[in-house]
Amino acid sequence: NSPKPLPMLLPITSMGTRININGEINEEGFVSAFDHGFLFGDSVYEVISTYNNKPCFLDEHLKRLRASAAGIDLKIPYSQDRFIVEVSKTILAAGNSESYIRIVVTRGIGEIDIDPSTCDRPNVVIYVTEGKNYPAEDYSHGINLAIVTVKRNPREALNPGIKTGNYLNNVLAKMEASKLGAKDALMLNPFGYLTESTTSNFFFIREGRILTPSLDCGILAGITRELVIQLARENGVPVEEGEWSTDDLEMADEMFITGTLKKLMPVSHLDGRAIGNGKPGPVTCRLMKLYDSFIENMV
Ligand code: PMP
Repeated sequence: NSPKPLPMLLPITSMGTRININGEINEEGFVSAFDHGFLFGDSVYEVISTYNNKPCFLDEHLKRLRASAAGIDLKIPYSQDRFIVEVSKTILAAGNSESYIRIVVTRGIGEIDIDPSTCDRPNVVIYVTEGKNYPAEDYSHGINLAIVTVKRNPREALNPGIKTGNYLNNVLAKMEASKLGAKDALMLNPFGYLTESTTSNFFFIREGRILTPSLDCGILAGITRELVIQLARENGVPVEEGEWSTDDLEMADEMFITGTLKKLMPVSHLDGRAIGNGKPGPVTCRLMKLYDSFIENMV
């Protein structure tokens, strides 16, 4: 008779959802079955949160979107101003108090062939739905992660630093973690070093020092990760980026993951083993407060 566990994300309802495709806004959106984004995952994307219904770190996200596009040789047809206008229009049309924004740029329609040279116009899709919230207990208790056998792509394959619409690697890792009863996965690279979670960066704390995989390990350069590193250093907490193995986690006092939607989320268990005393630790809690007040002061 135990209560049903809360879903990780609140369900998306069609209320408050608007889809902007190449400037045209509707309640639903359809892209062609011939779009190479659909056929081959040949696309790039970003997820953005709002605070006071204003997109947070929009410039940083658009910069990373352009870098991802350059990484797969895709020309984004929108200027910075056009993006700002289209995102604002879509937020307004959706009419939520807080919004979840997803920008996807696909290679566009082409022949059913892996060669993208037949695709002459990328499609720009902006989704706006109600802002997503994670259950409060994920923050108050922390979540459990599992180290999975599925490896993060090496940089020489599909570089994890490029945020493409091809997330199957991470989908498989997430499925494995779920089977193991964990909320998310901690993925290693093929050389056995720690990388990240399926949609979050990973940090651990040992004797007051924050340790996190370096970009060289093959991870996404998270916008939240960058800010957390900056806030920690500004507040006298040392941060070391490097190559860490699972052995380095043995003596970890605390762990947390970061991302645009979840901000900082404490990790209380790894592979069923309690981290520290199995509760969010003092350094993590301090950084969560610093992050929240940074955002509040910014908007
Ligand atoms: N790693 C991966 C693989 C991700 O998909 C995300 C989410 N974009 C992150 C890390 C966190 O990045 P950010 O803080 O920019 O949301």
